[in-house]
Amino acid sequence: MVTDVVVIGGGPAGMSAALSASRTGAKVTLVERDEVLGGILNQCIHNGFGLHFFHEELTGPEFAYRFRKMVEGDKNIKVLTSTLVTKIEDKKVEFMGKNGVQEIAAKAVVLAMGCRERTAGNISLCGTRPAGIVTAGVAQKMVNIDGKMVGKDIVILGSGDIGLIMARRLTLEGAKVHAVFEINSTSSGLRRNIMQCLEDFDIPLFFNTTIFEVVGKDRVEGVFYGQVDENFRPIESTRKFLKCDTVVLSVGLVPEMYIAPNATICKTTGGAVVNEFYQTDKEWLFSCGNILHVHDLVDNVAIEAEQAGEFAGLFTLGKLPEHSKTLFVQAGEGVSYVLPYSLFEGQGKVTLKLRLKEKVVRKTLVAKCGANILGKKFILAGVPGEMMSFEIEKNGATDKIVVGIE
Ligand SMILES: Cc1cc2nc3c(=O)[nH]c(=O)nc-3n(C[C@H](O)[C@H](O)[C@H](O)COP(=O)(O)OP(=O)(O)OC[C@H]3O[C@@H](n4cnc5c(N)ncnc54)[C@H](O)[C@@H]3O)c2cc1C
Repeated sequence: MVTDVVVIGGGPAGMSAALSASRTGAKVTLVERDEVLGGILNQCIHNGFGLHFFHEELTGPEFAYRFRKMVEGDKNIKVLTSTLVTKIEDKKVEFMGKNGVQEIAAKAVVLAMGCRERTAGNISLCGTRPAGIVTAGVAQKMVNIDGKMVGKDIVILGSGDIGLIMARRLTLEGAKVHAVFEINSTSSGLRRNIMQCLEDFDIPLFFNTTIFEVVGKDRVEGVFYGQVDENFRPIESTRKFLKCDTVVLSVGLVPEMYIAPNATICKTTGGAVVNEFYQTDKEWLFSCGNILHVHDLVDNVAIEAEQAGEFAGLFTLGKLPEHSKTLFVQAGEGVSYVLPYSLFEGQGKVTLKLRLKEKVVRKTLVAKCGANILGKKFILAGVPGEMMSFEIEKNGATDKIVVGIE
């Protein structure tokens, strides 16, 4: 098989990238391991999707359906579902599908494989390993797709968005969610989710707190939990026991980079290092969506992937704008990462995406090249859980750009 662009992953990022690559005139093959396109959205039956992209509040499946219809109506896009990509080597993509192992030769490849969840092993959770320890995404799939409950008396570890949403979902399905424990002093979840998923249901959220030990032989019987010090070490004098039959883990996502061919990876995001065109250090390899950095809103995923797909399409047609001098972008004071990691010298505006290291109130985000100020944005209140967009002017940037809080 031969094509211009192969997009790997049929979630919102993959579908959006495939559509925009196709609009450039490139031939596209979209590969998805699941039976249907849609990615993680298919199991997110709550609303809160699409406000920016479709200017409507949609559920996850509704958002996915709209994209699926557009993809299916595009004759330039060939869709392969139930097909797992196993290797990417030298612009050749190897996959396993209905006809066994095959290969596609492409001019460009877009990585859009999303994230996987961190497990009990990943966080070295202490105690026994009985039934009843599940990740939040697995719990979500069991409840929303398979129609099965994970347990009756639940404790959630981690206050990221998936954990918060599952606290509400499991409560609505009749379980008692006793507590959400968060090891940090702030939540990485959206403020609206803390209010709508915990506070509205009187579910307590404990900061600086973690599970010391899981107890149980065949099934979870309870957890010892307590507070941690500033180095996240358990403070034994605060140890308490809580009876429960299920521990739901919402302790972070890891970009699915295991098949990406030696692209340079950012230690903070776990995703590839990309330039303004979403190109990795292999010029034919592009990346977008959750595999690039974890997004809080799917609308931002769709917008980012739309750009990445367009650049990938233009690249295959030899129409990508000429590269000028590379300007590296660096995270400064109070900022954990800024994306893209480099821009090209020139004119015009560019939107940077970033996350803060900690909560800030009434501060200013500033982008500078030496003494030259390229952009400023006032932040009334910002938290690490919310991804921020920041538009800057490239004019006047001739060297490294630093983005920080002042
Ligand atoms: C529980 C939960 C609640 C959320 N709530 C909201 C919300 O309220 N509002 C909102 O805007 N956003 C929400 N989000 C975020 C949003 O859903 C994600 O940001 C978005 O789905 C990420 O899109 P993606 O395409 O990058 O990844 P995914 O949706 O994960 O898609 C990746 C796709 O790649 C496929 N894939 C992976 N590896 C391979 C391979 N080797 N070969 C072939 N295919 C492969 C996967 O099967 C999957 O279909 C939520 C996310 C979760 C998990």
